[in-house]
Amino acid sequence: MREFPHLYVGGSFVPPATDERLTIHSPADGTLVGRAPAASAADVDRAGAAARAAFDEGPWPRLDVAERARLLGGVRDALAARLADLDELGTRENGIPISVRPAASALAVADHYLAAAGRYPFEQDRRGDFGSRGRLVREPVGVVAGIVPWNGPLLQAMGKLIPALVAGCTAVLKPAEETPLTSLALAECFAAAGLPEGTVSILPGGRDVGRHLVAHPGVDKVAFTGSTAAGREIARICGEQLKRVTLELGGKSAAVVLDDADAATTATLVALGCMVYSGQACAALTRALVPAHRHDELVEALCAAVRALPVGDPLDEKTVIGPLVAERQLRRVEDYIASGLADGARLAMGGRRLADRPDGWFVEPTVFVDVDNSMRIAQEEIFGPVLCVIPYRDEDEAVRLANDTSYGLSGAVFSGDDARADRVARRLRTGSVGVNALAGDVGLPFGGYKCSGIGREFSIETLDEFTELKTLARTDTASFGLVGTS
Ligand code: NAD
Repeated sequence: MREFPHLYVGGSFVPPATDERLTIHSPADGTLVGRAPAASAADVDRAGAAARAAFDEGPWPRLDVAERARLLGGVRDALAARLADLDELGTRENGIPISVRPAASALAVADHYLAAAGRYPFEQDRRGDFGSRGRLVREPVGVVAGIVPWNGPLLQAMGKLIPALVAGCTAVLKPAEETPLTSLALAECFAAAGLPEGTVSILPGGRDVGRHLVAHPGVDKVAFTGSTAAGREIARICGEQLKRVTLELGGKSAAVVLDDADAATTATLVALGCMVYSGQACAALTRALVPAHRHDELVEALCAAVRALPVGDPLDEKTVIGPLVAERQLRRVEDYIASGLADGARLAMGGRRLADRPDGWFVEPTVFVDVDNSMRIAQEEIFGPVLCVIPYRDEDEAVRLANDTSYGLSGAVFSGDDARADRVARRLRTGSVGVNALAGDVGLPFGGYKCSGIGREFSIETLDEFTELKTLARTDTASFGLVGTS
């Protein structure tokens, strides 16, 4: 049992403003995992004021980027020293199988940005078209509010905090109320690094705390990861206040299996791409588009590949599919399965609660066939281990179906001919596409087209999202750079 008595406000562990506590039970077996305070609006106000003061008057934004990177190296080292502890705590807390090694991915994010700090063009010279000599300066955007979901609390937190801090911003992070324990354990890593006062706060709490943080007058930019519904609400508030905002939202990504793809290899990748994180991944490949004339063969291969993925105790290193995060999520998945059946889709496998794990929120890995792309199960994000197989007649129809969704986060194309897969990948309206592979690498940009979001996360390009571009202009004459006078 892990007990966190305090919240992390401006670099110190302090008592919360209210007595409200978050009690966490294991999604796998219901045992008590730990307790932590729930942040309230008053805590957000404290953290917001500390971040504002640290940005406006403190040393952090004014430090040389190399010095910021050196100090953040302390966070990185503290994280590296407790990967196993963080992975185990995280798995106990949200049920995501330990085999995905979330702490190692979070560490990879830190390593990426600490290296990128030395390469990013914070200052560049450019000659203007009217003869001005310009210096382009990338300044930190200000106080960043990071809001993250429960499915990848370490990766998502580091994916916001580290680039924001490298850029010179100060930050208030609000993790989900399902994952306060790993989030406050991460706060201990920040505390170990001894960043200047006010630079970072970590305040786990519910939606209302998130809403308060988004609207907080001290916040300059919101970096959000979560559902499209919440993203819309946040975008509305940021629009009114003209705050900068980036949104990493939901997905309904398609795996396009072309008619020359190898069945077994493709099925293995699609099964994993759909079921990883127990199906609770934004980038999950939840629709398999298969050529109609190979439908039965591919369904058989997909079911075999799904059956090969071990289901069960998320703390077992071999497990790929664990429980869902909460009973509410299990009910949501069951509702979608019922809706698929009501709409005329057929179960090729799965569809029920896992009989031998009654104490946890387990659902059987499920494969639907006879799915029409207009059905709810093919259009809406289920966020569970459910794959929809949809037949198509030719390549154009495959592309049309893949794009016939309000989302556009990820995807994949499989073919025996890599150049052909590449051609089809370019026709998909989506932020990432795996070409005979699964997309997902912290060194490459990630983000959504359409309702899957605005902006990009991970990779050096994300530093653009945490900076404002200032132009310092000089002219050789007193012309003020007017047309024709240079
Ligand atoms: P959610 O939107 O309900 O919650 C996510 C976070 O936002 C939580 O911290 C929550 O407290 C907070 N929140 C919710 N409503 C808010 C509001 N109106 N204002 C401010 N904060 C608010 O999402 P969830 O169901 O917990 O997480 C799963 C969703 O996240 C899925 O849709 C998934 O696709 C998405 N996701 C996207 C990515 C990505 O990178 N695109 C990554 C992981 C998860």
